[in-house]
Amino acid sequence: MSRRTVLVTGASVAGPTLAYWLRRYGMDVVVVERAPELRTGGQTVDVRGAGRTVAQRMGLEDAIRACSTNEEGIAFVDANNRTRAAFDAKAFGGEGLIAELEILRGELARLLVERTRDDAEYIFGDCVTGLEDDGERVRVTFQRGAPRTFDLVIAAEGIGSRTRKLVFGDEVTFRAFDLHTAYFTIPRAPSDGQQARWFNAPGSRNVTLRPDNLGTTRALLSFQEPPQGYERLEPARQKALLKRTFAGLGWETPRVLAALDDSPDFYFEAIGQVKMPRWSKGRVALVGDAAYCASPSAAWARASRSSAPTSSPES
Ligand SMILES: Cc1cc2nc3c(=O)[nH]c(=O)nc-3n(C[C@H](O)[C@H](O)[C@H](O)COP(=O)(O)OP(=O)(O)OC[C@H]3O[C@@H](n4cnc5c(N)ncnc54)[C@H](O)[C@@H]3O)c2cc1C
Repeated sequence: MSRRTVLVTGASVAGPTLAYWLRRYGMDVVVVERAPELRTGGQTVDVRGAGRTVAQRMGLEDAIRACSTNEEGIAFVDANNRTRAAFDAKAFGGEGLIAELEILRGELARLLVERTRDDAEYIFGDCVTGLEDDGERVRVTFQRGAPRTFDLVIAAEGIGSRTRKLVFGDEVTFRAFDLHTAYFTIPRAPSDGQQARWFNAPGSRNVTLRPDNLGTTRALLSFQEPPQGYERLEPARQKALLKRTFAGLGWETPRVLAALDDSPDFYFEAIGQVKMPRWSKGRVALVGDAAYCASPSAAWARASRSSAPTSSPES
């Protein structure tokens, strides 16, 4: 009997992890990623709980530890950079706000792709444009490559998955948290130290700076506003929006805004949760944020159950 073939879409965290396990269970795997190369942006991912168990079972824990950001904790600072509250990374048994084991999202994706690259076929710079599921196999058309047929297709395309939209249509509900966040890398400055620093400003705005292990600093700008479709704008317009929204703020905000245009890995998202009545339809399934994203603000979200669902945020 021939081996099962599976198309996985998205080469971030969920996609390559799935590719590893599908290979372990004897399937042939193709991973297609829309970006022309591995996306390295984003801040840190804390590896704890089930994530730690999965990393251990994949034999990746030591490699992750070797790439750890080694943040010492987080300080909540005022406009004069005075610490108003702080949490050490060792607090709560290493399971606090900053965990004992943290790795950059891009570094984690790189480790996962490296672990699977020899066993799975990776295609960058392409994406699915159509799927025909005849009950036995799925014929897939791509933006660039020739059509191919697979036994199964699994979308790991993140919160704005377009393949999800193609297959599940309006079954998707996006629960918006009225929160927008941009992540990008900026040059390191002497003030950055080994601690993450979090500055809250009036008008529901937040600037966070986190030292990484690559000699740079990871910046985060976050502001509250009901959904406007900002996540679908061109990056240049998103950056202009951020400059307007954060203009005149103190602390290290001017330095962050000055570095915005030259950042190599700008990423903007509308924070929210994907809600699906089911995660598979015929021979197509969803995994990761495309299926059930809890969002980085899950704890906060539980406290604000009143925000109304809106439509899906395909990107
Ligand atoms: C560049 C980037 C930076 C991020 N930064 C942060 C952060 O700082 N903090 C945080 O909490 N979360 C961040 N996230 C989200 C975080 O990675 C996810 O919440 C989590 O890791 C779950 O991963 P995932 O693999 O399900 O989805 P994601 O990490 O969102 O990855 C989805 C992948 O699919 C690709 N893709 C999208 N559409 C298609 C398509 N049609 N065809 C093929 N590929 C497609 C994307 O380019 C991406 O590589 C970031 C995601 C990305 C892509």
